Amino acid sequence: MADFSTHLIGATAAGSLAATVVAKVLGLPADHSLLLIGSCIVGGVLPDIDLQRSTPSRILFTVFGVASAIAWVFARVDDYSALALWSTGLVIFIGIRWPLSWVFGTLTVHRGATHSLLACAATLLAVAAVSYQLTGADALLAWLVGLFTAIGYLVHLLLDELWSVDFAGVKIKRSFGTALKPVDTRRWAGSVVLLVIAFASSLYLPPTTPIRTAAGTVIAALLAGEPGVILP
Ligand SMILES: [Zn+2]
Repeated sequence: MADFSTHLIGATAAGSLAATVVAKVLGLPADHSLLLIGSCIVGGVLPDIDLQRSTPSRILFTVFGVASAIAWVFARVDDYSALALWSTGLVIFIGIRWPLSWVFGTLTVHRGATHSLLACAATLLAVAAVSYQLTGADALLAWLVGLFTAIGYLVHLLLDELWSVDFAGVKIKRSFGTALKPVDTRRWAGSVVLLVIAFASSLYLPPTTPIRTAAGTVIAALLAGEPGVILP
């Protein structure tokens, strides 16, 4: 498998290139572009949360806990006192960092259900739904954050497969085919959980019109080879 820094570099490269194109065509503000690159990087290390007690897993649950707590606090800043906000944020962080991380570590097998296209799709839907419903992001931004997380996720799966090929000896290692699979059919429990997440998220998705319009604009600009978008 590709190591942690390879995944970070791959996701950062893909995320920043995609964010530059999208920001140029859609005229996104700088803070939104940075958020998209950040989402892509998180997506790029996300599949390895199945590595128990690993650096990626610990960092991920810490970052995920902090980000969720901060997002909740700022989404509800007008509704509660500072102390109530802070203590609820702390509970959210602790709940994600330890119990959720433990549940994950116990239930998952490395390169199992999280290394599949189903997991990538479930991540897209879940991130879009959570961003839209819980953080107050508008529909377009919520979809973009979900999409960029999914781009990072996909880059991770591709890198894991690439690293299964031993280029020096042109051999294929046994791990080939274990990352970029549609669904994990060997352990159905994990795949069922992902299906439930995808289905539940699909009930809370933002409206699709803004992202469809935006996707049309970006694709048209790319196909037309509009000067200044990719090439000078
Ligand atoms: Zn991996």
